[in-house]
Amino acid sequence: MSKKQPPGFNTANLHADRQGKPEHGVLHKPIHTSVAFEYDDARELAAVFQGKKSGFNYGRQQNPTVNALQDKITQMENGVASVAFATGMAAIGSLIFSLLKAGDHLISSSFLFGNTNSLLNTFTRLGIEVTFVDSTDADQVAAAIQENTRLVFTETIANPVTQVADLAGIGALCASHGLIYVVDNTMTSPWLFRPATVGANFVVNSLTKYIGGHGTTVGGIIVDSGNFDWAAQPERFSMLTTPDPSYHGVTYTEALGPAAYIGRCRVVPLRNTGAALSAQSAFNIMQGLETLSLRMERHCENAEKVAAFLEKHPSVNWVNYAALPDSEHFDTCQRICGGKAAGIISFGIQGGLPAGAKFIDALQLILRLVNIGDAKSLACHPASTTHRQLNADELASAGVSEDMVRISVGIEHIDDIIADIEQALIASQS
Ligand SMILES: *Cc1c(COP(=O)(O)O)cnc(C)c1O
Repeated sequence: MSKKQPPGFNTANLHADRQGKPEHGVLHKPIHTSVAFEYDDARELAAVFQGKKSGFNYGRQQNPTVNALQDKITQMENGVASVAFATGMAAIGSLIFSLLKAGDHLISSSFLFGNTNSLLNTFTRLGIEVTFVDSTDADQVAAAIQENTRLVFTETIANPVTQVADLAGIGALCASHGLIYVVDNTMTSPWLFRPATVGANFVVNSLTKYIGGHGTTVGGIIVDSGNFDWAAQPERFSMLTTPDPSYHGVTYTEALGPAAYIGRCRVVPLRNTGAALSAQSAFNIMQGLETLSLRMERHCENAEKVAAFLEKHPSVNWVNYAALPDSEHFDTCQRICGGKAAGIISFGIQGGLPAGAKFIDALQLILRLVNIGDAKSLACHPASTTHRQLNADELASAGVSEDMVRISVGIEHIDDIIADIEQALIASQS
């Protein structure tokens, strides 16, 4: 590797935690379990506390192992800084809670992970206005903009219907209106898509899914792309542009430049609500992360074959998978993710709800559980599990029907996955 050439995706991923001199020449960043960190004298400790010197003070806000994970994800997402949380939901909740206040308006895609939908409804009760729109069409987002709109939130490829948001169109719109653009990249992972390339100001990932990949650990992360001009609208984003008494009386934008928001995120949501990721969790996630690119290649390849198989099967009414040439989202999927669509497929089973239950019961290899993005193949029935909190109208607008079965296609041998689906489809019709 020449010195000038930036390292490839997986080279950076594998080596980023060994920058500098890792202690004792260790292969991996060690698991630092210390809750606090000692300094040589009072002055040094004070400087770290006041943010005048970089360093660790207390485990709720920073930890060396967690920092190593943050640095890797920052690099993968083309960002300037990251902050990790105990779960993906904690990351999303903290992001919104620390940027908006009562009276502000947020526009969200209506094609959302079920718990994000309920989180936004919780924010509505706290006085933040929320409008849900069809995010595959940037014009619908534009039509929802109000005088008090501050933020637009969307996922990349939605689960379980696999709608692909108009990510570039929404990015251009947010830039021209000075709105904060937040993209949840969980379904694609930075291997498949980097939201910063279409102007996302913040990227959130649940580390629980493809990034960790092995069903051992929950976690979440916010990456700051460093491309939002807070100072251009000081009255709108005063929490970053006016001195904060709890941050030694200076402004985050002055002290931290493009990483201003992430600095505030450590000081406000992490310090005050405390949903910190543990060092052990960060370590587990980094181990999974090392093989992200290999797993994603296989997830995509296997899922394409499963989708093609389902599409031809007589007991299957319809298939949602954005990389299928018949999908209405195929063109956007080509533009955004080079025609790959990760591992989530949903399909309509002939015979509706009872046949769906028989299908799930008959599976022998594919696991009956509601996670996604695991190395193992998983299946579930969304209307009775992940999307159960939605009413009939909300189910319809999320595109979740009673005959829908969702499969998160894993990295097992493709013949074994298809054989299991084939036998379960036969059993479903008996
Ligand atoms: C799972 C998921 C989340 C939440 O992540 P947790 O780690 O389970 O809290 C958020 N967004 C999407 C798209 C998800 O799939």
